[in-house]
Amino acid sequence: MTKLNYTIIGLLALVAACGQGPQQSEATEGPAAAVEPTAPEETEVWTPVPNKVDPFGQNGAPSDAIVLFNGQNLDQWISAVDSTAAQWTINPDGSMTVANGTGDIQTKENFGSVQLHVEWRSSPENTASGQAKSNSGVYLQNRYEVQVLDNNDNPTYVNGMVGSLYKQSPPLVMASVTTGSWNSYDIIYHAPEFDDQGAMSRAPKITVLHNGVLIQDGFDLQGTTEYIGWPKVSPHGPGPIKLQDHNDHSGVSYRNIWVRPLN
Ligand code: MG
Repeated sequence: MTKLNYTIIGLLALVAACGQGPQQSEATEGPAAAVEPTAPEETEVWTPVPNKVDPFGQNGAPSDAIVLFNGQNLDQWISAVDSTAAQWTINPDGSMTVANGTGDIQTKENFGSVQLHVEWRSSPENTASGQAKSNSGVYLQNRYEVQVLDNNDNPTYVNGMVGSLYKQSPPLVMASVTTGSWNSYDIIYHAPEFDDQGAMSRAPKITVLHNGVLIQDGFDLQGTTEYIGWPKVSPHGPGPIKLQDHNDHSGVSYRNIWVRPLN
């Protein structure tokens, strides 16, 4: 056999060896690679690079957020009653207060899945009890209410207390600050999806941090948050974010509202 023949045989043996052995026997292990990586670089991902966001780039709101209320005006809001200009009161300290009886206000813009930041304050002048003590609410897609209420020394049904997903899910804990101090809600909301028959194929999912404390942990809503009756399901697309005028002189104020659409 010539030297050339030995070389060809050697190459054929090498090709055959590459098509079997560890690559096939270990194919069920690891997320993608058939062979367990042996160098750190093999499991590094470098692209795409996430966008850079200044977390406080807009007077405290992230640089990529849509600022819905910064204390200056209600330009981003309209009346939920008749779509005219929102009538709630702008205060010198950069907050706004429910103008009793003028109705809910809602964003001009519609949203689906979002990260939403809202700060709210109960009224020290409100000495009512139960559901009448500084009752308001933050609605996602115009339908699903995260309850705002002053529950300091004020018991009520727990699926209607502060931080509840109204009539569906009590908060994990009650994390309110004292009456008259500022609370924050940080809400992660994933919009529902519907099948061809109009049934929910994916429920609306809500996570809420109240003053940084987890109070709703990815709860799947059954439908709308009704005052009377069971949750209702009807197909819908993006909708406004709404703030509630409970029409009982709540005195609730809001400030620093911003949203980051998630898609
Ligand atoms: Mg309410």
